[in-house]
Amino acid sequence: MKAPICAVCLKSDGILCPADEKKLQEGLISELDVKIARLLYKLLGDVDVEFKKAVEAGDLIVIIVGKGDVSIVVGKGGKNVKTLTRELGKRIKVVEGMNEETIDEIKKLATDLFYPASVFGVNIVYRPGGEKYYKVLIAGKDRRSLPEKVEVLESVLSQIVGHDVKISFI
Ligand SMILES: [Zn+2]
Repeated sequence: MKAPICAVCLKSDGILCPADEKKLQEGLISELDVKIARLLYKLLGDVDVEFKKAVEAGDLIVIIVGKGDVSIVVGKGGKNVKTLTRELGKRIKVVEGMNEETIDEIKKLATDLFYPASVFGVNIVYRPGGEKYYKVLIAGKDRRSLPEKVEVLESVLSQIVGHDVKISFI
């Protein structure tokens, strides 16, 4: 299993090795990343999947994995997600990470996260200072189909993308 911490840290439960501890101190990885990486390793063992990172907002934790890895991480009938939900006391969603920051990739991510609401499109908006954010367009009638509160979805999506993401109902 590929993870943001090394194989030794993945298999242990205690303190991190100096290299991974440094990553944590520098903010390259989070406590949540470490926790999820170790839990996933316990559940999955040495399988060929990549855990990239995890983000959280409200009651939701989003686990970001490599291309094609969602079904293995979720497990048969969602059994791994059920175990993680029980261990962490939060709702869990597993999605494929972005390869690059493009409109298409953000739309795909939003589509995965917002299901069963459908995503109409994604716009880039430039603020007066030149800084950009993304606007995810959802049909007004789909507002009630969103699986989480708007603020929660905006927060997790912004954390994954690395730029502000706002939901806009059209
Ligand atoms: Zn380590």
